Amino acid sequence: MRSHLLNDMTAEHYRRSVTEGVERVANRLATTRRPFTGVTPDQLAPVVSAIDLDRPLGDASAALDELEDVYLRDAVYFHSPRYLAHLNCPVVIPAVLGEAVLSAVNSSLDTWDQSAGGTLIERRLIDWTAQRIGLGPAADGVFTSGGTQSNLQALLLARQEAKTTDLAKLRIFSSECSHFSVQKSATLLGLGPEAVVSIPVDRDKRMQTVALAAALERCRAEGLVPMAVVATAGTTDFGSIDPLPEIAELAGLYETWMHVDAAYGCGLLASPARRHLLDGIEHADSVTVDYHKSFFQPVSSSAVLVRDAATLRHATYHADYLNPRRTVEERIPNQVDKSLQTTRRFDALKLWMTLRVMGADGVGQLFDEVCDLAAAGWELLAADPRYDVVVRPQLSTLVYRYIPRSVTDPALIDRANLHARKALFASGEAVVAGTKVGGRQYLKFTLLNPETTTEDIAAVLDLIAGHAEQFLGENLVHAS
Ligand SMILES: *Cc1c(COP(=O)(O)O)cnc(C)c1O
Repeated sequence: MRSHLLNDMTAEHYRRSVTEGVERVANRLATTRRPFTGVTPDQLAPVVSAIDLDRPLGDASAALDELEDVYLRDAVYFHSPRYLAHLNCPVVIPAVLGEAVLSAVNSSLDTWDQSAGGTLIERRLIDWTAQRIGLGPAADGVFTSGGTQSNLQALLLARQEAKTTDLAKLRIFSSECSHFSVQKSATLLGLGPEAVVSIPVDRDKRMQTVALAAALERCRAEGLVPMAVVATAGTTDFGSIDPLPEIAELAGLYETWMHVDAAYGCGLLASPARRHLLDGIEHADSVTVDYHKSFFQPVSSSAVLVRDAATLRHATYHADYLNPRRTVEERIPNQVDKSLQTTRRFDALKLWMTLRVMGADGVGQLFDEVCDLAAAGWELLAADPRYDVVVRPQLSTLVYRYIPRSVTDPALIDRANLHARKALFASGEAVVAGTKVGGRQYLKFTLLNPETTTEDIAAVLDLIAGHAEQFLGENLVHAS
């Protein structure tokens, strides 16, 4: 069994084994023509269940053969130009190379004595990101597993910095389009169900700052304490960017923490054409970025940045076996002092390789391309009488709904749209997302693949219309 351990004697085995895995994936990518096969959980579950985990196959080739059946054949492939559903990006090759290196070397970024140079690379990337945001000389941060964890940590810091320790009095303000991890974080932080105050959005799905100002004033008048204002720079559904300068001003006026959730919009930090859309983000006390959304990085790659490094002390605990107090005096950089995690992947290496090979402009141009594509997709949808499209996109999502000319029952139209989404997924020809707007069923394209064309968008709209019409045909016949 020792022949399976990666060490000085097994370098050749490692090379062969990983190369074979890379070959399989490369073949899959080169021959897969659809984002999905349409397999159902009922079809796939027995295949996975039938595998006896107590009878190993002994070698990698056999295990890879088996993996074709249980995973590779039926996986949902984000590199497909017709994968248009969630905030998943096709990944760039330098990052995948970084991933292969980081898992083989297997550094753990909690302490210097488990990572050495890895710690310094992560710190450089944090500084690089903070500088692009404009957070100033005292900024710091740490890589996290995703936007959810970044938001949780930012709100933890905000809670600790708040002007009261009475949790029942604390309020968080975020728009009705903000990510659900804000609510989840509030609960995890011990705040009550009333803690998150939902601020209405305007027609472009951006937070109404007049309503925010009124809510903050009401909070103060009721003797409650504003703990944080969460501005979203790129809402998950609409890609809308809250008015950051106005929100910063209000946060300053009411002396409350300003967090910017840029999990999606962070790609603008590298954009040669659209960086200005994030103007005002430099006033934030903390920022969430998800490199695994708009920097074309493999999952996971995310970070939380803070204006004042000292606030990260709220995540600092010392253990004799890991990061004893003396290491602070000895100026040994232990990233665990800033993180909610202990053992932690060296995800930063993927972004490092990306920047060293492609450069920031290269990544930013890819993001600009998908934003351009979304603008072109909006033109298509707005001109198409079969569809109602909600907002002209600032980033790269389109929310729309099929509206048949002959049917007026909104509930039936809801069902037709939901059916179209499901039928499309079952066909495997394309994958789109869904959401609700004003209680009604809508469909969503999240465009993160520069290989997707307007022809792809047009073709998928035809497929959706076809499925919806077929559904309505059948249901109207039954009704009559
Ligand atoms: C995706 C997203 C998150 C959550 O990030 P994960 O990486 O999925 O945990 C938070 N906020 C916004 C606006 C998002 O789009």
